[in-house]
Amino acid sequence: MGKTNFQISQKEPEIHVNKPPERKFLQKQANFNIWFFIFVMILLYFVQTVMQVKTEQIPYSRFQSYLASDKVAQCVINGKTIVGTLKIMDKKTGKPLHFITVPLYNANLAKELEKHGVKYSVEVENHFLSNLLFTWIIPFGLIFLIWYYLGQKMGSSGMNFMNIGKNKAHIHADTGQKVTFKDAAGVDDAKQELGEVIEFLRNPEHFQRLGGHMPRGVLLVGPPGTGKTLLARAVSGEAGVPFFNISGSDFIEMFVGVGASRVRDLFEQARAKAPCIIFIDEIDAIGRQRGGAVSMGGHDEREQTLNQLLVEMDGFDTSKGIVVISATNRPDVLDKALLRPGRFDRQIVVDKPDLAGRVEILKIHTRNLKLAPDVDLDIIAKRTPGFVGADLANVANEAAILGARMDRDAIITADFEAAIDRVIAGPEKKTNTLSQDEKHRVAFHESGHTLIAKLVPTAEPVHKVSIIPRGIGALGYTLQVPEREKFLATKNEILDQIAILLGGRVAEEIIFADVSTGAQNDLERSSELARNMVCAYGMSEKLGAITFGKKQTSMFLGTDYGEQKNYSEETARQIDAEVKLIVENSYGRVKELMSKHRNILNSLASQLEEKEVLSGEEVDVIIKQSQA
Ligand code: ADP
Ligand code: ZN
Ligand code: MG
Repeated sequence: MGKTNFQISQKEPEIHVNKPPERKFLQKQANFNIWFFIFVMILLYFVQTVMQVKTEQIPYSRFQSYLASDKVAQCVINGKTIVGTLKIMDKKTGKPLHFITVPLYNANLAKELEKHGVKYSVEVENHFLSNLLFTWIIPFGLIFLIWYYLGQKMGSSGMNFMNIGKNKAHIHADTGQKVTFKDAAGVDDAKQELGEVIEFLRNPEHFQRLGGHMPRGVLLVGPPGTGKTLLARAVSGEAGVPFFNISGSDFIEMFVGVGASRVRDLFEQARAKAPCIIFIDEIDAIGRQRGGAVSMGGHDEREQTLNQLLVEMDGFDTSKGIVVISATNRPDVLDKALLRPGRFDRQIVVDKPDLAGRVEILKIHTRNLKLAPDVDLDIIAKRTPGFVGADLANVANEAAILGARMDRDAIITADFEAAIDRVIAGPEKKTNTLSQDEKHRVAFHESGHTLIAKLVPTAEPVHKVSIIPRGIGALGYTLQVPEREKFLATKNEILDQIAILLGGRVAEEIIFADVSTGAQNDLERSSELARNMVCAYGMSEKLGAITFGKKQTSMFLGTDYGEQKNYSEETARQIDAEVKLIVENSYGRVKELMSKHRNILNSLASQLEEKEVLSGEEVDVIIKQSQA
């Protein structure tokens, strides 16, 4: 409920949705495991057959007696041992017995062997080859194999020697199951904006002949699991162009300089296959703000990679039809250089789906499931505010599993209910899901903000109101978009701003005769504004055009760390009183406005609770209808 301003994308807390492991990955893993297993079996078999020749170590005296009784068939003499076969057969295998013995020095050995008709040969003591094999090739081979295997297991095939420096972006050949826009729902705005990119990729020359200017880079911004990766794939599917997919974290490898050369390779490959899409997932892994006093080296690798990316992005020829799409859920940490014109200058927000969007997403993910006739996807969507596409996919899957476990013919509503509970409470806890009561309250709270924003004279237009939880600390928001950039604020504008901030709290008080903790951030910000009016802007009549307090700025960090108090206790008391007065007066004003237009508040809130998101136009319509 906190956000009443234009800072929607600020500090979205990182919520990691545990996605169910993708089946394709498991398949690949399984294939590899099988191959590895087969390889080990072959190796073992080989070793076995070599070692199978059972060789008995015998004393030299026994060897001599065998020799004397003509029982030695043949032997090989090398520096230290005599190895050979006897004429005696092994009872089990029926093969000649093997022996090994350590001889005494015997100058007449050759003569004796000849005398008894033994085939013999002498080996020069040359262990070079076997040494090489046993002390170098086999151990290193084993180490390499284990290393490679572990690398595969950890899902990072980047540990392959042959591949270092080569990017791992794989081209998605147009196979039967390509992803299209039909596979993503509830993200209509994003789809519409991406439509232009598709147009361009389908026919770059044509697009340019009409004077179209194509952005090189598109940044998809949104919470995890909302379908950013899916959309990027869908763009390539819709446009029918190759898709080079690489994740930001893939770039960060263990060898210095690899990241940068990967970027180079990636763009080189892409140039050869244009028109195409380069998709850089989780770009924040490489695109984080560079430098800064805190970084003491260690990030050089990342910086080099980022620099190379910037160079490549500036360098390629857009007329060829290469579009770089990247995705992040942390736009706030990205290096400003990435967002400059000619790079990722176009941002597309992929937001959490509203009620209607969730219904559509559920339809997609239950396409191939057998549902009982009583299952109503609308009801399931109503029960899942704040769920993203990945969560809903998870719900559908869990429901199917539960239904199957119960040996049902079709999935029933209860399975879905249980699946939702599981996703809410399960290992991937979703703390930001509202109960029915909370949703009711948040609807009124946000409607309060919206109503006041429509009533006070200087407010910016309301663009959107939402009660879809956006993460910890923001259960809903009212988005106002300024018509033009502002550099100054007048006293009346600040007072109106305070009134809008208080609107949420007052609505709760009027409707529920009880207030909640949800207004904390609003109150913090309204108090801050009021205090600044008095202390920083000299807007208090009583205290006059004087500023109080001096901000202390750290030379090293560039941030404020405190305030130097340059006024007396008495003045401090007066400041407090003035701030309190401003807030109290505003509160009274808001309460009066709201009581007068309570019917509008009611219809706004009920519509909001129903639809979860209202656009500016919808708000206008509701207000007009309630006034009539
Ligand atoms: P992100 O990249 O935003 O974290 P993904 O695109 O990886 O999210 O989404 C993970 C999975 O969740 C998708 O493969 C898809 O099955 C499902 N999903 C996410 N968003 C949507 C959506 N808008 N419509 C349909 N399915 C979705
Ligand atoms: Zn609020
Ligand atoms: Mg993703």
